[in-house]
Parts: sequence; C-alpha cells; structure tokens
Amino acid sequence: MTRRTIAILGATAALLAGCATTPNHERATHSPKGMVAAAHPLAADAGVEILEQGGNALDAAVATAFALNVVEPNASGMGGGGFLLYYDAKDRSVSVLDFREIAPASLEPRHASVDGKLNSSTMRYGGMAVAAPGMARGLLKAQAEHGELPRQAILAPAIRHAEDGFAVSEGLVGIMESKVDLLLEDGAASAIFLEDGLFTPAPGDVLVQKDLAATLRNVAEQGDAAVYGPEPAERIAAAVRARGGVLEASDIVNYAPAERPPVSGSYRGYDIVTIGAPSSGGLTMLLTLSVLDRYDVGSMSFDDPAFLALYIRAFAAAQEASDLVVADPAFTDVPVDELLSDEWVDRTVAAIQNDIGGRLALAANEAGGHEIAHVETDHAAYPGNTTHLSVIDSEGNMAALTQTINYWFGSCVAIPGMGIVMNNEMSDFSFEEGSVNVPEAGKRPRSSISPLLVLKNGHPIAALGTPGGRRIPSAISQIVVRCIDFESPLQDSVDAPRLHIDAADRKVSFESRIAEETMQQVADILGDGWSFESRGAFDAYFGGAQGIWIESGADGAARLAGAADPRRDGSVATTRE
Ligand code: GLU
Repeated sequence: MTRRTIAILGATAALLAGCATTPNHERATHSPKGMVAAAHPLAADAGVEILEQGGNALDAAVATAFALNVVEPNASGMGGGGFLLYYDAKDRSVSVLDFREIAPASLEPRHASVDGKLNSSTMRYGGMAVAAPGMARGLLKAQAEHGELPRQAILAPAIRHAEDGFAVSEGLVGIMESKVDLLLEDGAASAIFLEDGLFTPAPGDVLVQKDLAATLRNVAEQGDAAVYGPEPAERIAAAVRARGGVLEASDIVNYAPAERPPVSGSYRGYDIVTIGAPSSGGLTMLLTLSVLDRYDVGSMSFDDPAFLALYIRAFAAAQEASDLVVADPAFTDVPVDELLSDEWVDRTVAAIQNDIGGRLALAANEAGGHEIAHVETDHAAYPGNTTHLSVIDSEGNMAALTQTINYWFGSCVAIPGMGIVMNNEMSDFSFEEGSVNVPEAGKRPRSSISPLLVLKNGHPIAALGTPGGRRIPSAISQIVVRCIDFESPLQDSVDAPRLHIDAADRKVSFESRIAEETMQQVADILGDGWSFESRGAFDAYFGGAQGIWIESGADGAARLAGAADPRRDGSVATTRE
C-alpha cells in the first residue's frame, strides 16, 4: 500500500474519532482502521484483539484461524489444512502459502479401491479419510515470517475460549445432530462434543475443550513441535491407525507447507489475485472472469437471461478446463500459462458465440416448458464444511485465508488427550481412472478453495473468500461481478442470489430468489442438454463468504466495508477507535 492510501485511511480515522468505540458484529459494517470478517463472532473478535495489540493483518488472521479451531470445531482446525493469501503493504507483494493436507506415504492403490476399482466410499470417514494435517505448521510459519507479535499473544484468545468454553449456537447443535452417529463411533470425538459422551448439547450450553486448550498452550510455548514433534505425531498417527487409517508419525513430522506463486488476471482494470494448484478454484474463477471481460456486462443486469446464459457457459468452460489439468503440482505439470492465455479465451468466446450468440439477443422471447427441479436444503444442519476469514489492517496489509477439515467434523476421528479433530481430505481425490487427481501416496488432494485479493494499480482493494466446495469459484466470481460490473456494495453482493454450474452434468442450481421465468429464458438460450434445480432462497449450499472491500465513503474518503454471509453464521468485527 502507498503512503497516500495510508494517509486517506488515517484521515478517515480522525474523521470518525468519537463515533462508536466498541467492536461490532453486524453483518455489514464499516471501519476506518482494522477489520476482521470470520465465521464466528468470537473468532472475529480474536483477530481484532490482536490488531489492537499492534499486530498486523497476518497476526490477526492466524489468531482468528486458531480461534476458529475452538469455536467452529466442525469446520477447521489443527487436524486440517488450507490456503493463505497475503498482501504485504510494505513491499506490495502477494504471497501464497499452501498448507493443504498430504496423503500418507504408505497409501497403496488397494486402499482406495473396492473390487479393484477406485471407490470414493473407501475414504469418506474414519482413519482412511485422514491425510497429514498442515494447519499449525503452515500458519505458524507464516506468522513467524510476516507477523509482528509473539506467538503466545496470537494463541491467547484460542486458549481462553477452549479453556473457559463458549456457548454453542443453534447452527452448531444442528450440525452435531447431523453427525451424531459418526461422532458416537469415535470415543475421543464423542467425549469432546457430546454430553456424557452420548447426547448433543442444547443451544446455549457451554462447550469446554480442556484437551484442545492444553494442545494450544503447548503450541504457544513450543511452536509446531507441539503437533509435529515425534511424540505428538505418533499419538495422532496411532489414533488414526486405530480407526483404520495408514497415517504414520513420519507423515506428520515430515509435513511441509509450500510457498506457491499467486495466480492473477485482470478484470476491468482490477488485478484479481488468487491461488493455483493444487486448487482448481482460483483458475476456474479467473477463467470465468476472463471470458466475461470480453462482454459489456455492465450494460446488462445480473438477472438478465442473456447475462446468466453467458455466465453459465463461461463458468462451465472454465470448470471443465481446470478440472482436466489441476492436481498436486508435484505430481502433474499444470499448464497455468496456457490455461490463462488469450488463446483459451478466444476459443471459448468463439464457441459461446457459435452456440448461443444468435440467441443472446432473443432473451425476451416467450419461454417455458423446461423442467425445473426443486431441492429443499435442511437448514437445521446446514450443509457444508470449511471456513473463510478476511482481514485488512490500518497499513493496508490484507489476508484472505480459507481453512478446512473438509466435511463438518472431517473424518469424525479425534485425537485422545489432544482435542484435535482430523480431516477427511482424502475424499477430495478423484475416484475416476485416468484423472490427474487420483489418490497417491504423498500427494495433496485437489481443492476448490480460492481466497481472493483485489488490487488496483498495486493498491489494495479487497480480501474475500468463501467455503462451499465446488461452489467456491462460482460464488466468488459472482460477488466480484456484482461489485465491479454492477457497482453493488460488498454486503449486497454477498447477500444477492447465486447460482452454480456443474459442467460435467450440464446442471445449473440456483437460489429461488432468481425467478423461474428468468431461468426458463436462460434455458431457451442455452439450448438442449441442460438441467435446472431451484434451491432455497438463502441456501448454505452456495457458501458463506466473508470479505472486506476498501470503498469510498459518502465524503469520498476510503473506508473498510466488511461483509459476512447471511447463509451462515458469519460476523464482522472492527477495531475500536
Ligand atoms: N475440501 C474442500 C476443498 O478443499 C473444502 C472446501 C469447501 O468445501 O468449502 O475443496
């Protein structure tokens, strides 16, 4: 970030001095200084606490991440992994840290097969679903490199919440209920989360996690040796093997996070910066935007059938292209430059024009007759996994961090005495022969995770991301289009209805706030071969985005605008003045 932008933020701070002085947890909020958007209010507060102690965005992101391990234990934690995207305002550099889980070294093809054929049921839950975790090692490395506060300060809020407990929300209780049978299969998991090891708590009950508190205290004192040292590594591996897995202590001791080059593209003059392999999500998002960039989207509206048809074709092409080639870059050569080339965009735009170009202008035709399925999501146990947090500090440093144990409660395997819940990331491999993403020893499973930073002329503009598995790149690209093309504020863009496309099945899922009449017209434009599914009005299936956008206030000065997704329990917290 330049001095100029810092000065503007400073001026806004002065202007707002004397206004509200307590952290706030509204969904949409504005701050002159630091801001944290995360999936739980206590976690967002943890980040703000660190900013107020003089920590930077990276310190705050790591503190928030560890706090999420405690207060959103169903979604992420030291038993899992993730990806961090960080903009350092001092030198205007962006770094990517991949702390994705890695398949055990002793994995054999038979472990992933039934009757000699790859089969995803082998690795959905239990010990075989578990890959070597990366979170503590990855985030402590990032904090040591970019952070400013001592590690003990970063871990303090998480330790406090694990020790003192926190009130479980209705949402968390619903999620526990949906997983209770699997939790009951695991003695350590049921001891942590179920009362008397048997019953789900009631909303408002306080969940204390003493073993997790002890592990976090050890992490504060010893660093990652508290998880990756030979003794704790053997304790973790033994518990996973006891549940049928093949994880060895050496898989954990040898775990190495990877620094990756960011991948980026230009969209309407903004730099869109995200992550590449082993995630396909960032590439899918960039390719989608690169096609849309060839069209005058700003002259359309989001619910214009012509725009939606264009978006659907662009996203489907992008998803197909990235799915085909993206896997762990240590195992396959991912042709990023070729993918992100003008040739690919030229070819894709030509195909779209050839197939539906003539019908784009006919969108207002009488449409109808296409079958639209209706899917009800059970929101008591809202579906999903994973968590995303965004931080921007007063210097303009930005962190976008998505972390996960994959499904809610991951493999449903917990580590006795350590309070750690292990991931089921092995199920993110592909179980189709010939895929670049088949399970292999020592390989990172492909991810859809795609945290995003927006810059303009080197200046920070936004940090953004969401959980939602395959819906991550569709959710984020739609939020970006709404913010940039339709000039909609971030919170409105996050709230607005979304759709998702499954290219292989030619299936479009959409929130019911998009009128069926509109989708009938979209179906007419797209032509044969597509199917459509209407889901809930605010459906957690479409993710739970948390973001911060540096926007102009009414007085023209820059300010931070935070947004959390109404589809999940997100929250934005700001520094006090
Ligand atoms: N395991 C998923 C992935 O890496 C987590 C992301 C999500 O489901 O939100 O793609």
